Amino acid sequence: MKTEIAKIETTVNTEALDINRNIIKKAAKYLRKNELVAIPTETVYGLGASGLSEEACKKIFEVKGRPADNPLILHISELEELYDLVKEVPIEAEKMLEELWPGPLTIVLRKSEKIPNIVTAGGNTVAIRMPSHKVAREIIKEVGLPIAAPSANLSGRPSPTTAKDVMEDLNGKINLIVDGGQSSIGIESTVLDLTSKPYTILRPGFFDKVDLENYLKEVEYDNALLEEGVIPRSPGQKYKHYAPKASMEVIIGNNKQIKEFIVIYIKSTIKNTAYILFEENKNLVPKDGIFLTLGSKEKLNEMAYNLFKNLRLADKLKVEHIICEGTLEKGIGIGIMNRLKKSSSGTVRIL
Ligand code: AMP
Ligand code: MG
Repeated sequence: MKTEIAKIETTVNTEALDINRNIIKKAAKYLRKNELVAIPTETVYGLGASGLSEEACKKIFEVKGRPADNPLILHISELEELYDLVKEVPIEAEKMLEELWPGPLTIVLRKSEKIPNIVTAGGNTVAIRMPSHKVAREIIKEVGLPIAAPSANLSGRPSPTTAKDVMEDLNGKINLIVDGGQSSIGIESTVLDLTSKPYTILRPGFFDKVDLENYLKEVEYDNALLEEGVIPRSPGQKYKHYAPKASMEVIIGNNKQIKEFIVIYIKSTIKNTAYILFEENKNLVPKDGIFLTLGSKEKLNEMAYNLFKNLRLADKLKVEHIICEGTLEKGIGIGIMNRLKKSSSGTVRIL
């Protein structure tokens, strides 16, 4: 199978609009035929399949090498589409959905009869999100069905935030990758279980507990996110994830501590290393060393944006080891640290 990357042009001229329309239609055609298409979203790129087709969703598991017990998120383009897919929506969640959707929030509810078992990995709840990325929404609208779309990477690898990243993992395995530019957020959605109270954050992401408390009285983090050794309620959280090929160590500290660490590290190791650090610490990396930026320490959104991209870049540069700065677990920092702990198999050093 030959994999094509079709680029959506964001500059608005009449010709580009026609080209874009054709790409949206092409993507929708494949999806309606139960083929897979990688689509851009604001979180990461998704591997899309018709969400009500057992046959199409089966291909997602095959292509990604995804464990069969890890359920899929269904993506919709309008709030109304939600009500057909679930048994009921708690009233207090409605205002939240009106304000936070479209966006990086996934909700888990009891599923309706329409949803095939493969989507929910046999369970009676389903995860649903309305992405804000225009291209994703247009494709979903054009298909006229919910689209199942886990991250478009091979299972276990860092999530893709560009069409090129998807190509790296899925070349020859799918027909089409729709290129809608780099994902603006860069880490996956917050997953919120609304099936019972207290409502539970199963996976941290762009929105944290404080954001959700503006709408819901009782919200907790899943215990597995707070304590070691607790089995996560979200199946996907138990797997090794987001892992680069190089071994990786996460370090957390102030600039002085980071500096001291790197001086000692350089003296004591001969490993070929990539340093993924905040821009402020760029000068700590030796001239002949590999520095990859996380953006400004003051702007954690930049850290999320740069994170997976750099893990993939480090692999391309064939380094043996990655030193990556971590951050405080606040706001999106909770989601970022959740990913970093998994990428590094828990090798986090507080300096
Ligand atoms: P991704 O592969 O990035 O799309 O991840 C989807 C995440 O949502 C995984 O962590 C799944 O385990 C989780 N998820 C999907 N459906 C459900 C569900 N019904 N209940 C709990 N977690 C879910
Ligand atoms: Mg994933």
